[in-house]
Amino acid sequence: MSKVVNIGGVLIGGDNPIRVQSMCSTKTSDVNATVAQIKELEDCGCEIIRVAVPDIESAKALAEIKKQINIPLIADIHFDHKLGILSIPHIDKLRINPGTMHKDGLKELVNAAKEKGIPIRVGINAASMEKDLVGSTVDKMIKSVEQNIKLLEELEFFDIVVALKSSDVIETIEAYKTFVDKYDYPIHLGLTEAGGGVEGAIRSSVAMGILLNEGIGDTIRISLTGDPVKEVEAAYEILNALHLREKPSPTIISCPTCARCSVDLDKIVSQVKEKIKHVKKPIKIAIMGCEVNGPGESKGADLGLAFSNSKGFIFKDGTVIKEVSLDSAVDIFVGLVVQW
Ligand code: SF4
Repeated sequence: MSKVVNIGGVLIGGDNPIRVQSMCSTKTSDVNATVAQIKELEDCGCEIIRVAVPDIESAKALAEIKKQINIPLIADIHFDHKLGILSIPHIDKLRINPGTMHKDGLKELVNAAKEKGIPIRVGINAASMEKDLVGSTVDKMIKSVEQNIKLLEELEFFDIVVALKSSDVIETIEAYKTFVDKYDYPIHLGLTEAGGGVEGAIRSSVAMGILLNEGIGDTIRISLTGDPVKEVEAAYEILNALHLREKPSPTIISCPTCARCSVDLDKIVSQVKEKIKHVKKPIKIAIMGCEVNGPGESKGADLGLAFSNSKGFIFKDGTVIKEVSLDSAVDIFVGLVVQW
């Protein structure tokens, strides 16, 4: 079992739930935009947030950002340890790639983190490893993480979280598996540069799903190009599918439709989704194209809506409880979901 690390009061590792995190896509120096995005992420269940700190303006913005948010804040620092030193008073964790920093600077930064009592994530990225490493990409990732951990351990720093990210699914799986055989530092799971939309979500799901199902991973960030809210939604879908975390919002099951379907189910599902987007309950709902197989195909749902010719049938635990007209079906069903 992995060690437990405290990120601003949110525990990761050991028996703790797998924490969902994301990263802001705003300019960190733009306090208003960054806080607005973090609030939106908090609202959909994000538990830890990371921001990039590429310059002094970004480091200076952290104090105000931290004041206005409710979840732990991580600063992502590369190359310049001074940006890390400036950030530390206002953050709950640092993410660095120690190999990219000068040894003296790293020592100063690690000592400052130790004094504040915040953890450091060693984030290995297959695209930015030390140039002198040899072997396969996975060999290099493992060598790099070992070197980096050694640097921190030599400075008597053990409050470490590790990530080993590649944009290749198989490499990422292999790297994490090799690492957990040797170390018990908590694992930050992620596939880097996964892409966007369906491609990114599927590639991340395959990599994360295989690792999580083997008990590997303590916190998860799904990297997707675009709105980070999608990253949080994708992370919960993966964890929910594996019965590792309950989604903080409704789970919608809908059928693919077939010749038995007599309504525009895609449109109905979109309407329901839109109308329940404010609902923060782990209810499972099913929206099915016909009444013949609908209730049976969605037995696991709390509430269901199925259609037959020009009528809708609302069912609970597989039994019809209400017959509704097509026009009123969405509103009546949404009302029941909200009340549930
Ligand atoms: S629920 Fe009915 S409409 Fe939907 S796929 Fe099954 S049989 Fe077809």
